[in-house]
Amino acid sequence: MPTAADTASSVVDPDEVLAFARSLIAARSENPGGSEDEAAATAAEIVTGLGLRPEIVRSGAGRPSVVASVGSGSGPSLAWNGHLDTVPTGALDTWSVDPFAGEVVDGRLIGRGACDMKGPIAAALAAAAALGRAGVELRGTLTFHLAADEEDAGIHGTKVLWERGLLTQDAAIVGEPSELTLGLAERGGAWVTATAYGKAAHGSQPHRGVNAITSMARFLVRLPEVLPQIEHPLCGPPTVNAALIEGGNAPNVVPDRCTLDVDRRIIPGETDPDAVLAPFLALADDLRRTDPDVDVRAEIREWTPAAETRSDAAIADVIRRAAANQRGEAAADAGFTGITDARFYINEASIPTVIYGPGSLTVAHTADEWIDVDELVEGARIYARIFADALGA
Ligand SMILES: [Zn+2]
Repeated sequence: MPTAADTASSVVDPDEVLAFARSLIAARSENPGGSEDEAAATAAEIVTGLGLRPEIVRSGAGRPSVVASVGSGSGPSLAWNGHLDTVPTGALDTWSVDPFAGEVVDGRLIGRGACDMKGPIAAALAAAAALGRAGVELRGTLTFHLAADEEDAGIHGTKVLWERGLLTQDAAIVGEPSELTLGLAERGGAWVTATAYGKAAHGSQPHRGVNAITSMARFLVRLPEVLPQIEHPLCGPPTVNAALIEGGNAPNVVPDRCTLDVDRRIIPGETDPDAVLAPFLALADDLRRTDPDVDVRAEIREWTPAAETRSDAAIADVIRRAAANQRGEAAADAGFTGITDARFYINEASIPTVIYGPGSLTVAHTADEWIDVDELVEGARIYARIFADALGA
C-alpha cells in the first residue's frame, strides 16, 4: 500500500513547478541594486493560492521576507528556507535569452535565480501544493521562510527572522542548490584587509620613497602560506583568495598606501578569529625581517562562522530516506563551499539544519543560469516526501 509520502510525491505537478518558478524568476529581485518587493508579492500570492496565510516580515530598512505555515497541532515542526533575492544579471549581452522570461531550452529552465534559488523555492511550494492535493494530514507544522537579502549583506532576511524570534522549529532545510546531495556543513569566511604602508616620493626618484605596492606584491605572492594544513571531511581545506587591491594615486608618485581585501574561507572547527589572523601577521613580520621598509598590517574586517549539523540528525535521515524512496539511491553527505542562511538556524538558533535542493551551485551567479527541469521536478517530489515524512503524516 502506498504511503502518504508516495502519494504526495506522485501528485506533484511538473507544470505547476515550472509555472511557480517562471513567475518567481519574472519578479526581479536583484541584490544589490533592487528589492525583494515584487518577488515577495509573487511568493505571497502563490502561498495564498495554496490556502496558506502569508505574513510579510520587513527589516528595519523595509526589505520583505515571507513567512507562511501549513499544518498545525502538537507534532514536529520544520522550517524550509529559501532566499527571494538574486545576484544582479551582469551585462545583458552575455545572456542568450532574457534573464527574466523563464525560457526553457533543451530541458533547461534559464533565468536569473533559476537555480539560486527561485527554482528550489518553486519546488518546495509545489511540494506543499501536492500534500494538499493528496489530502495528506500533517500532525506537525511546515513553515516557509522565504527570505530577503541572502546574496549581499545578509542582514535584512533570515537574520531578521531570527531576531524576531521566528526560528523556533525542531529542524530546518535550507533549499540552496546542492545537486540533491545532503549538505551537512558549510564553510564560513574571514574578510581580511591587509594594508601596506610606504613613503611617497617623486616618481622620478623612487629611491627616496618606499613603494607600498611593491611591499604588497611581496606579501601577495606568499599569501598561500597563511593557510593551515587542515581539512574538514565534507568541506575540504580552507582557502584564500586575493579579491580586491587598490594602491597609488598618480602615475608620477611613489605610492605610500596599498590595500588588499582577502577572502579567507574557514572550515567548521575554525572558531577563533585570532588564530586565523595570526599567520597573516607572521607573514608580515617575516617580510619586515628581510626588509625593514616593508610595513604590512592586517586585520579581520568581518567574520562569518562556519556551520555544521551532526550526520545522525533526524532531519538528515528523513532526507536520506526520501531520496532513496524517490530515486533508488540515498543522498550523499556533502559540504557546502559557500555561506548560506543555514548558519542562523545552526549557530544562532541551535536548530539541526541541512542544505538540500535541486540545481547546481556551479551555474549560480553565471550568465544563462539554469536548472534542469527534470531535476527541479524530482526535487519537488522529494520535498513532498520529506514534508510528509518529517511532519508525521
Ligand atoms: Zn543562494
